Amino acid sequence: MTSDDLAFDRDHIWHPYTSMSEPLPCYPVVGAQGVHLQLADGRQLVDGMSSWWAAIHGYNHPRLNQALQNQLAQMSHVMFGGITHPSAVALCRRLVAMTPAPLECVFLADSGSVAVEVAMKMALQYWQARGEKRQRFLTLRRGYHGDTFSAMSVCDPDNSMHSLWQGYLPTHLFAPAPQCRFDDEWDEQDIAEFTARIAAHADSIAAVILEPVVQGAGGMRFYHPRYLQQVRELCDRHQVLLIADEIATGFGRTGKLFACDHAGIAPDILCLGKALTGGTMTLSATLTTRAVANTISNGAAGCFMHGPTFMGNPLACAVADASLALLQEGNWQAQVTAIEQQLRTALLPLAAHPQVADVRVLGAIGVIESRQPVNMAAIQRFFIERGVWIRPFGKLIYLMPPYVITPAQLSQLTEAIKAALDQADLFLPG
Ligand code: PMP
Repeated sequence: MTSDDLAFDRDHIWHPYTSMSEPLPCYPVVGAQGVHLQLADGRQLVDGMSSWWAAIHGYNHPRLNQALQNQLAQMSHVMFGGITHPSAVALCRRLVAMTPAPLECVFLADSGSVAVEVAMKMALQYWQARGEKRQRFLTLRRGYHGDTFSAMSVCDPDNSMHSLWQGYLPTHLFAPAPQCRFDDEWDEQDIAEFTARIAAHADSIAAVILEPVVQGAGGMRFYHPRYLQQVRELCDRHQVLLIADEIATGFGRTGKLFACDHAGIAPDILCLGKALTGGTMTLSATLTTRAVANTISNGAAGCFMHGPTFMGNPLACAVADASLALLQEGNWQAQVTAIEQQLRTALLPLAAHPQVADVRVLGAIGVIESRQPVNMAAIQRFFIERGVWIRPFGKLIYLMPPYVITPAQLSQLTEAIKAALDQADLFLPG
């Protein structure tokens, strides 16, 4: 890439959560292989982000490439209305088998946010079909579910700046963020406010929506599985649907295949995305129980009112099926356990560092919460000079590497973080 390309990028192309008038620097990547990203100047970076939870098998995987090539030779896309195709059937068959037993019906869509839109719309249509006016959602503070409007309406109101959309976003119910940590002794008080909210508003709540066990983009927090178990019990008691957003946590990242497995529960509606295609293409899936699907289908509309143009895209389905096959055949459980152990050994002692407010590790996720927010441009440069790709936000410096990372590569990531904590100029005041 030329400097002219970079200037065009800066002047004309939005990047996630950046300004068009004062954009932060972007680094040109021209290739990716295994756990490495290759910069245009030839430097190789060890990837600590899995491209936001997605590239669990590493980049340029021959099995995934082969699946894409095979599908490309047949057809890259065909509409899903009135048509089906082998890759969609194979993928959905696998998803139904992999996910908790009551989840039987699959809706394929384009991205995580759309999977959440679909899940919320399904919950609304479910109650409409049952003749009840239930149009509110109950969720948790510090949650994150995507950037489209319905998804935003159930994100943490402060993090996602609900104040910007006042009068436009529907107002839903928020329970405080769980405080009892994953490894803590369970404290019954932690669920008290949630219990009170669901009891007080049960008649108007269509569904509870939450990220099971790991709250991701809203704070990288790991809460107690008993909380989730009790949410399931409360939803049953008050006849409220439970939507589990496993877009980030699905497919092994937390040490279990799904984060719901930590609590031994199944939701009524499950959202999947990100690692679904091994980070190669955008695709999401929303799964429901037969009861939810049948109720929606037998309602006044007679169908579920959603059908995106690229629904069931064959290329995405083919590579997702290959990615899940790879996961099932491989030893992700041992890989994630080894990553977890190494992250604990390397990161937990950093809790004593004066710059560090908290350290937490779960599965292949390691989080350092600093006392001061990072200086994004400076810390990014610092990491790149040390040959690693780590993208912090706010006070959170975190790792979620591809499962295939070696101990030496993982050490390079944790050593870079350790070094960064000693540099005062990489953090902003206050
Ligand atoms: N839900 C969760 C839990 C997520 O982490 C994300 C993405 N960070 C989304 C939904 C939205 O997915 P997408 O960015 O693919 O729209």
